[in-house]
Amino acid sequence: MRAIVLNGSREVVVKTVDAPTMEAPTDVLLRLTSTAICGTDLHIYEGRMGNFSGNVIGHEPLGIVEEVGSAVVNVKVGDRVTVPTHICCGFCLNCVRGFTDACLTVNPGTTGGAYGYPGMGGYMGSQAEYARIPFADANCLKLPGEPGDEWENDFVLLADCFPTAWHATELAGVSPGDSVAIFGAGGIGLLAAYSALRFRGATVVYVVDYVPERLQKAGEIGAVPIDFTKGDPVEQIKAEQSKRRKGAKSTYRGEEAMSGVDCGIDAIGFQAHDWTKKNIIENPNIVISALGKIINPTGRLGIVGVFVNNDPAPVSDLAGKGEVVVPWADLFKKDIVIKMGRDHDLRYNRHLRDLIIAGQAKPGMIVSHRIGFDAAPAAFRKFDERKDGYIKIVLDPQAKA
Ligand SMILES: [Zn+2]
Ligand SMILES: [Zn+2]
Repeated sequence: MRAIVLNGSREVVVKTVDAPTMEAPTDVLLRLTSTAICGTDLHIYEGRMGNFSGNVIGHEPLGIVEEVGSAVVNVKVGDRVTVPTHICCGFCLNCVRGFTDACLTVNPGTTGGAYGYPGMGGYMGSQAEYARIPFADANCLKLPGEPGDEWENDFVLLADCFPTAWHATELAGVSPGDSVAIFGAGGIGLLAAYSALRFRGATVVYVVDYVPERLQKAGEIGAVPIDFTKGDPVEQIKAEQSKRRKGAKSTYRGEEAMSGVDCGIDAIGFQAHDWTKKNIIENPNIVISALGKIINPTGRLGIVGVFVNNDPAPVSDLAGKGEVVVPWADLFKKDIVIKMGRDHDLRYNRHLRDLIIAGQAKPGMIVSHRIGFDAAPAAFRKFDERKDGYIKIVLDPQAKA
């Protein structure tokens, strides 16, 4: 089969590789109809998550069940399904408690496995024509419709992008009336803004980035785009917040101390750009530092951007160990609740699917490019360089270009 294979640092190639085969009676084989490229793939592409060269990349599949293991009871040949990035068994202590991303079965000795991801169990990536799905009954989310229909670009985002974005709003406890600051307008940041505004009742969402097309998309969603090349994003958000008061006096005494936002989300992670420097350089501390300043006392932070502890090209010794400088004193003084980590996919994905089916949610509106495998190497390059409006890319294994 054809697949997207990492070829050293900052290059992918389209290669013919052995198709996966059934390994256990609990497996199914999927023939993929869509498979998305994720911002997380760029960390891998840049060689920042360890050596992954020679492996198939990708973890966001949508497809049709082609073969079913003898122990699978709930999925049959021909079913249209997507599966979470994070593989789960469905029966371990963490799975039964709803922490399916921290499954204790799929990556023995640690928590959590995933497709096409270094250090997460060695499962083949999903940017390919076929994918083997372990523990199919637990992982497969059944979907209506047929390949290429109006939902194709929406359903593929149920593997990771939409539930992880929702998870970010869940971690940050976004509730009716809240103001929210989101750092990062990639797929996750944009769908977190969408979730916060459309489904969780946020009154205002600020989305911080520097890529014009992403900021424009944030505006289309109804968020307030904050371009960090135009000045300190914390000051910009504070200025916007005071404008929103339209000169109204405080309802309560001392409200000036609440001039920031109620909720903050980091949708960037360790490769954040330092907006205080002229040249683009990384600073893994900058987002938490900004969130510490902009979050209101008693506020809540949700951190879903990726952090790693085995970065082969760190910006500092501390960063190389995955250690980030956090403004604990400010956060402590302000009573901030901080939650972080991977998406507990199975808690959300069927609800989000039902919002799509009901016509309430259209997450596919963030897909900027739908292309064939042959166009993937150039698309990775441009996505990595943040060029030409590559916001969210979906690969179509059947397409010729
Ligand atoms: Zn992803
Ligand atoms: Zn499990």
